[in-house]
Parts: sequence; C-alpha cells; structure tokens
Amino acid sequence: MNPGLKKYLSEVFRDRVRFDEPMSVHTSLKIGGPADAYVMPVQEEELVFLVDRLKKDGVFYCVMGAGTNLLVRDQGIRGVVISLAEGFTKIRKAAGGANRVVARSGARLAAVCRYALKHSLSGMNFALGIPGSVGGAVTMNAGTGLGSMAGVVENLRMLFDDGVAMSLDKSRIQWSYRGFAIARPGRDKSGEGIILEAEFLLCPADPNLLKKEAHSLIQKRKTTQPWRAASAGCFFKNPDSGDSAGRLIDSAGLKGFRVGDAEVSKKHANFIVNRGHASADDILRLMEAVQERVYKNFNLKLEPEVKIVGQ
Ligand SMILES: Cc1cc2nc3c(=O)[nH]c(=O)nc-3n(C[C@H](O)[C@H](O)[C@H](O)COP(=O)(O)OP(=O)(O)OC[C@H]3O[C@@H](n4cnc5c(N)ncnc54)[C@H](O)[C@@H]3O)c2cc1C
Repeated sequence: MNPGLKKYLSEVFRDRVRFDEPMSVHTSLKIGGPADAYVMPVQEEELVFLVDRLKKDGVFYCVMGAGTNLLVRDQGIRGVVISLAEGFTKIRKAAGGANRVVARSGARLAAVCRYALKHSLSGMNFALGIPGSVGGAVTMNAGTGLGSMAGVVENLRMLFDDGVAMSLDKSRIQWSYRGFAIARPGRDKSGEGIILEAEFLLCPADPNLLKKEAHSLIQKRKTTQPWRAASAGCFFKNPDSGDSAGRLIDSAGLKGFRVGDAEVSKKHANFIVNRGHASADDILRLMEAVQERVYKNFNLKLEPEVKIVGQ
C-alpha cells in the first residue's frame, strides 16, 4: 500500500482502520489471509471521501457486511476492505408509513427481524437465522423457501463509484436467484455500487402468531443445519434443473467427505464446514472435488453461492 494512502487512512480513521488485518477474524468460515487495510467508516460522507480517494489512487476495494457468505483466499486481499457492519447499523421506522422499516446496510438481519417482531410487523420471519447484514442480504437476495429480500425491499439507497448517492425504488431493482442488479436512472449500463440502506415494506400482524412462527423456524434451522459450525451457509446454488444442491451432494455419497479440516457437513450436505484449521485452499479443493463428483454422477455443474475473493 502506498505510504500516502496509509497516512491518509491512519489520520482520518485512527482506531477505525487496521492494516494487514486477518480476514479469518471477520468471516463466519474463520478463514482468510490479511487485507492490506480494513476500514470501518461510520458516516456516509466519510465513505464517499474514502471511495473517491481509493479510486484516485487506483487501489482495489471491496465492501463487506457480516462476512457470512465469503471465502477469502489464503494470501488475503491486496487492497482495502470497507466494513459497514460496525458503523452503519441504525434501524428506524420510515417517515412514509407505519409498516415501513429502514435499516442501514451494516445492520444485522437478525436485528431487523427482532425490530419487526417488536413492532408486530410480519414479512421478515423468512430471514430468521440468516446471519448476514442488510447490505449482504440485498446483494445476495438472501432467502429461504418462505421468501427472500426481493419480496420485502421497497427502496434502496446506494452509493455509486462516481460518488453519486441516490435512492432507487423497487422498479429499478432486478432481482435474481441469489443476486440483484440496478437500472440506474439516465445510464445505459446497470450500476454497481455500495448499498447504504434498505427500506422494507411489512404488514401488521398478530404478535403472538409471529413469535410462534419465529420460534418454530429457528428450531427447524437448528435441527436441519450445522448451526454452531464455522460455515458460510449453503455453499452451492441450487441448479436450474430444480433439484437441490444438498440432495445431489448427499446422493453422491459426499456427506462427511474431507480435505484437511474442510468437511462436507454430515448434517446438511450443502454446507462446507471448517472443522478447525481449514485453509481457503482446503475449501477450494473440497469444492472442486464435490463439483467433479456431482458432475460425474448427475451431469450437472454446481456453481458456488459463496463469494470467493482475494488471492
Ligand atoms: C449458518 C448460515 C446460514 C445461512 N443461511 C442462509 C439462508 O438461509 N439463506 C441465504 O440466502 N443465505 C444464508 N446464508 C448466507 C449468508 O448469511 C447470506 O448470504 C447473507 O445475506 C450474507 O450477508 P453478509 O452481510 O454476511 O454478506 P458478506 O458475506 O459480508 O458479503 C456477501 C456479498 O455482499 C457484498 N456486500 C455486503 N455488503 C454490501 C453493501 N453494503 N453494499 C454492496 N455490497 C455488499 C459483499 O461484497 C459480497 O460480495 C447463511 C450463512 C450461514 C453462515
């Protein structure tokens, strides 16, 4: 990292920047080499200036939420990781209506779910047990069989890499399976940017029924998923054929299959877990072995749902 940028980051962010920060500390897989710098902005203005400076210096940057869908390679990230999970966490009622909730992108989905339950609003229970942040959940169109972000997001506030921050209503969002794209006004190309906040449209509901549903959903997760193990949730996307990746991996006899400390969970075959000291390389070799076996058995190529970043 160039000394000028290092000086700028140290002076502006003080105890909110860390250099050579191991990403294993920030990912649910507990894996990942060091990022050159890990920065935790707390204000939108600060973030705008940071992105502008990184662009001018030609330094790579990426945004992370809670790190629950990330595999960071062992040599880490040459560039700057911007974490919004520490500073951008506020959740509030929207000005425009009692059923609307606005959450900043670093807020945990769990906190949004709790907020909705507290205010007797239904619509967010599908997200119970998804451990990510709002920004990560929107990026991934996170969800379950019961719903996904596409069903509840009304509006997004985003910062684009030319420094423009704007709100976009849902007509500008194109949702896909575990993804989304933005049609930015006045631009031909879809815009990519940093999600600053999301507005959710929920429905008034009976608080007791909501709490009962929430309890049973959490219980179900605990019995069907390796709840306490280090993982990034489902590792592979379900194929277009309509089959489930987990069922295919299980049918291929891969439950419990290991490379080093990386293991196909015995509880849920689409979870790859770190049993202690797995490296990113172990996970990647296990991923390839699973892809090969499933391809050989079913003629289907499984694509990772987990985002793989770094070197
Ligand atoms: C035990 C477990 C269970 C899970 N269950 C589910 C499930 O049921 N359904 C499901 O869909 N997923 C599930 N996941 C995966 C994961 O929790 C979700 O994908 C979650 O939405 C990721 O959010 P995050 O904040 O951790 O994102 P991260 O892992 O930090 O990032 C994911 C991607 O989002 C981008 N990103 C993050 N924040 C922003 C932002 N503000 N602006 C722009 N880009 C951003 C990152 O650059 C990255 O590309 C599970 C994971 C675990 C560990």
